[in-house]
Amino acid sequence: NRPPYETPVGDEYYLKSNKTTPPERKANAAIVILARNTDLNGVVTSVKQMEDRFNKKFGYDYVFLNDQPFEDKFKRRVEELTDSTVKYGLIPREDWVQPDWIDEEKATAARKDMVKNNVIYGGSVPYRNMCRFNSGFFYRQEVLKPYRYYWRVEPDVKFFCDIDYDPFLIMQDQNKVYGFTISLYEYEATIPTLWSTVKKFMDENPDLVAQGNAMQFLSDDNGNTYNRCHFWSNFEIGDLDFWRGEAYSKFFDFLDKEGGFYYERWGDAPVHSIGASLLAKKEQIHFFNDIGYRHEPFQHCPQGDAHRKGKCWCDESENFDREWYSCLNRYDKLFE
Ligand code: GDP
Ligand code: MN
Repeated sequence: NRPPYETPVGDEYYLKSNKTTPPERKANAAIVILARNTDLNGVVTSVKQMEDRFNKKFGYDYVFLNDQPFEDKFKRRVEELTDSTVKYGLIPREDWVQPDWIDEEKATAARKDMVKNNVIYGGSVPYRNMCRFNSGFFYRQEVLKPYRYYWRVEPDVKFFCDIDYDPFLIMQDQNKVYGFTISLYEYEATIPTLWSTVKKFMDENPDLVAQGNAMQFLSDDNGNTYNRCHFWSNFEIGDLDFWRGEAYSKFFDFLDKEGGFYYERWGDAPVHSIGASLLAKKEQIHFFNDIGYRHEPFQHCPQGDAHRKGKCWCDESENFDREWYSCLNRYDKLFE
């Protein structure tokens, strides 16, 4: 009954020694990047690493999303980096901007208050749009309709290790819905009423809450209070159909109606994490231990055999897993 990630990925998932042979099996998946035109340099950094460490051997499509049209310069520099198909989705205005049923006076007051309290992105409307979009709209975009699985990538991240197996096939074959590399605590000031809203949802929809879920990751007192643990959503490998399904759709709509994306500053990280932890079975959440990853200011660096196997270039001693601010111990406890 050990954590699922301690089981090494089976040899059958690794590329054959002749790495120029394309893989025999592929998932229906895409690498998804939400970005602004001004994020170009950071995007290029991330895509180059993604290609070198993983995707030039596997050839998955890229899907770029933006609330503004991507400039030609952006497209040119990205397409230079890959032989894969690259698609661009322009996000419809109604999937991005603050809905008009939000009380703007109340929202303005909340932002002012957060600025006063130095809450990160506390005064930003675009950041809130982004969080709401990632929470409830990215998986419904027209350009993502053909796909089942996604890997979320952000500008300016680092991938430290060779990824010589296909993580999408792990998701597919093992019926996983959500994969992460780093977990941590959310700032209380961004989510004062999130948990009470979640509890209301659970009370009203007991049948949507999964048996054998990961509540113990989120709560130390069986759901009474939220311990603020969440998976860091700048990295995600997930099942789009899970977000598209009845349970999560109702969950998102319920949260959205409360207005906390604007009256507070609910992040897509806690929203996705709570959704996955309560609406799926705990075994369906996967720790990608062998994917070395950094998004400032934290990194997950695989340890020992995994570090060697991946030819990772991160310093093993710099690893967030067992830092005091990490929630990985809570994830481990789910499987004890
Ligand atoms: P942080 O990681 O929470 O500090 O936030 P980021 O600034 O990295 O934003 C998260 C992701 O959303 C990144 O992929 C950004 O490129 C993207 N993003 C943030 N704001 C906007 C926006 O206004 N428009 C678009 N198109 N993308 C955005
Ligand atoms: Mn970021």
